[in-house]
Parts: sequence; C-alpha cells; structure tokens
Amino acid sequence: MYDFVIIGGGIVGMSTAMQLADQYPEARLLLLEKESSPAQHQTGHNSGVIHAGVYYTPGSLKAKFCLEGNKATKRFCDEHAIPYDNCGKLLVATNELEMQRMRALWERTAANGLERHWLSAGELREREPNIVGLGGIFVPSSAIVNYAAVTAQMAKQFEKKGGTLQFDTEVTGLVEQADSIVVQTDRGTYTTRYLVSCSGLMADRVVRMLGVEPGFTICPFRGEYYLLPPEHNRIVNHLIYPIPDPSMPFLGVHLTRMIDGTVTVGPNAVLAMKREGYRKSDVSLSDLGNMLGHRGIRKVLKDNLRPGLIEMKNSLFKGAYLKTVQKYCPSLEKKHLKPYPAGVRAQAVSNDGKLIDDFLFVNTARSVNVCNAPSPAATSAIPIGAYIVSKVQEIVGDEFKKTSVPALQAQAV
Ligand SMILES: Cc1cc2nc3c(=O)[nH]c(=O)nc-3n(C[C@H](O)[C@H](O)[C@H](O)COP(=O)(O)OP(=O)(O)OC[C@H]3O[C@@H](n4cnc5c(N)ncnc54)[C@H](O)[C@@H]3O)c2cc1C
Repeated sequence: MYDFVIIGGGIVGMSTAMQLADQYPEARLLLLEKESSPAQHQTGHNSGVIHAGVYYTPGSLKAKFCLEGNKATKRFCDEHAIPYDNCGKLLVATNELEMQRMRALWERTAANGLERHWLSAGELREREPNIVGLGGIFVPSSAIVNYAAVTAQMAKQFEKKGGTLQFDTEVTGLVEQADSIVVQTDRGTYTTRYLVSCSGLMADRVVRMLGVEPGFTICPFRGEYYLLPPEHNRIVNHLIYPIPDPSMPFLGVHLTRMIDGTVTVGPNAVLAMKREGYRKSDVSLSDLGNMLGHRGIRKVLKDNLRPGLIEMKNSLFKGAYLKTVQKYCPSLEKKHLKPYPAGVRAQAVSNDGKLIDDFLFVNTARSVNVCNAPSPAATSAIPIGAYIVSKVQEIVGDEFKKTSVPALQAQAV
C-alpha cells in the first residue's frame, strides 16, 4: 500500500511529487508515468520560456503562480546549476489596433506587478535592429530554460527523498474506496491512500476513471514551430512576441531564443486530430470522435471558425505562416524556416463551449486532479505543486505527522 500515487511525469507531476516527498518524509510515494522517461509530452515540447506573467487576468491562479513561478524556477535552477538566460521579452505592436491592445496589456502588467518599460518605435529598433513596429513593451524578467532538464532534476530530488519513479506504466483504471484508491495499470495493480493526477493531455480521462464527470474535456491544440538556420542565431537579442488577440488563449507566433543558442519561430495553434499527435498526419479516430462528440468543443469550433481556418491555412502553407512573423521581422524568408518538432497543448473546454482560461483542479475525497494546466504551467510548476500539497494537506488532515516545512512551498505560496 502506498500513501501517495502521483500520475504523470511531466513538470507538474514531478514538481508535486518532489514537494510531497518533502512534506511527508515518512510516506511511501510512487510516481507512475506511461512513457519511458520524464517530460515526453507538453513539458518536453514547448518554447522553454520562463514567463513573467504579462497576459493573465489579475487575481487569477495563472497570474499569481506565474509571478511566483518565475522566481521559484530561477531559484531552483540556481540551486541545481541548471542553465537559464534572463534574456527578457519584447512585445511588439505593428499597427494601430495592436497599439490599443498593447496599452491594455500595459495596464494589465501593472496590475500583475511586473517591471516593464514602454518603448517607442526608435527605442525598439535600437534594442532590436531586425525588428520593426510602432512600439513595444520590454519585460526584463522573462527568461529561457530547458524544462526537460528542470524536470529531470526534480525527478532526481524526488528519488533522493525516497520516492519511487515507475516508467512505462499506464494507469488504466481507478477505483476510489472509503479508505484507499485502487490504481489499475498495464503492469499490475497498486493501492494508495491518496492520489494526485497531473496527466496533461489525458486529464479528463483520468478524472472519469474516478467516476467523476468533470464538466469539461481536453481539446488538443498542436503548436508547430520552425527552426532558423545557425547564421540567424543572433537575429534577436530578446524573445520577440506579437501583441495577442485578447479573445484567443494563445500568444501568437513568436521568435524564441532557445537555451541551446538556436532561435525558433512559433508556435501556431491548430486543432490536433490526436491527443499526442505531433505530426500533421497523426489522426486517432477515437480521439476525433470524442472531440466532435463533445458539444463544448463543437461550439468552440463554430465560434472560432475564422481564426481556426486561418491557423489551418498557416499550418499547411509555409508562406502564410511566414507572413505572421514577417509582420515584425521582415528580413526572414521562406528558405530560413527549417523543420522543428511540434508540441501539443492540453486545453480544457467546458461542456458549455468555453476555453477554460485559468488553471483548474478537481478534487475527490482522496484525490487532487490537475485538469487544466496549459501555458504558463511549466513556469508555474513549483507553485502549482505547492498548491496541490496544500490541498492534499486539507484532505489528509492529521494522518501523517509533519516533520519538516518544505523550502519550496514556504517560498512559493
Ligand atoms: C507548444 C507549447 C509551447 C509551450 N510553451 C510554454 C512556455 O514557453 N512556458 C511555459 O511556462 N509553458 C509553456 N507551455 C505549457 C507547458 O509546457 C505545459 O503547461 C506543462 O508542460 C504542463 O505540464 P504537465 O506536467 O501538466 O503535462 P505533461 O508534460 O503533458 O505531462 C503529463 C504526463 O502525464 C502522463 N500521463 C498521462 N496519462 C497517463 C496515464 N494514464 N498513466 C500514466 N501516465 C500518464 C503523460 O505521459 C505525460 O508525461 C507550452 C506548451 C506547448 C504545448
């Protein structure tokens, strides 16, 4: 019998496991991951940005955890000698509508407590000679890191504190009883007193295994990137982001300096035909059936038909994709866009057809389930883990004697 089973070896699961092991040093902890190593899905296929917290609704969990997570992630990297680069980010407005939206973002960044600097077109050009725009906002605390490396270090810490990692093990069923949860997997059955699920693209399916109708379903959105050739590795000095359309949950195609010195363009946001489908040709009839059978997703598709079709066009035609970035970086040409692996976002859609914006958790008597953890959840993974530990503490009560206060939790919450 385990005290805690954690499902999911992405950054959210690993951060939670590490902090649970800190909080309950006497407990038996097991993390189950269906892949053969950590960070094989969203955590290993993202832009690697330690976000500052520019976009998020003031007072939301995203705004709070992103701000805390920016500091906590850098602190964790400092403690474990993981390289990151405080390169800062520039949001660039290229027309009057974007200037208006940028003013709104300026207010939001103030409400979210961020250091930021308003740049005129001239100041923008001075900082970034290859970028054009009417103006910009510079956010110095944005940074870059390799989240797979951060997750690998969290896995090490978890094991060091006595936790067990088990890969190649897919959870296939859950039975919650009065005093325990039975965890069925493709490699045998385990029993645990408490369960935490951080299963990303499978979040809704895991909640349903517990017999709970979660009121949402996961809609997978593929984010496709291109890589610039090495001679363009210095094309920008910062991360360059367009001003996003506030009605859309994604940030728009950006120029991202990666921690290995390369620069990527992307990601876009196209509906994926398979939850873990990284190639355009990946289709799962059962995933597709689930999606189209969900009235909430059908409503989202209907309400966003035009932007959805534009994203699809940009995905199919490199020239169209290129235009989205040429708006602010006109020197890039089609020949500069080299292939790069895509990522797939897990975006929860409510049954009444809304893209759920904030982080979302669903709890049962013996479990805490992360149900919506899209960007900036990699940045926010340490405070999310601390929050889950606090929810677990409420459920567990006095069952375990607390013997230490975890440093990360104390700092993050
Ligand atoms: C294209 C893209 C760009 C992004 N850019 C950024 C960024 O720059 N900065 C940022 O902060 N965030 C970014 N994000 C978001 C960030 O990557 C995710 O929010 C974060 O990685 C979520 O972590 P997770 O652990 O919840 O999910 P995941 O990393 O997807 O991990 C979930 C794990 O659960 C496992 N699992 C699922 N079901 C089961 C089961 N039944 N049994 C066992 N294991 C199971 C999966 O195999 C997987 O390993 C981006 C995401 C994408 C896709």
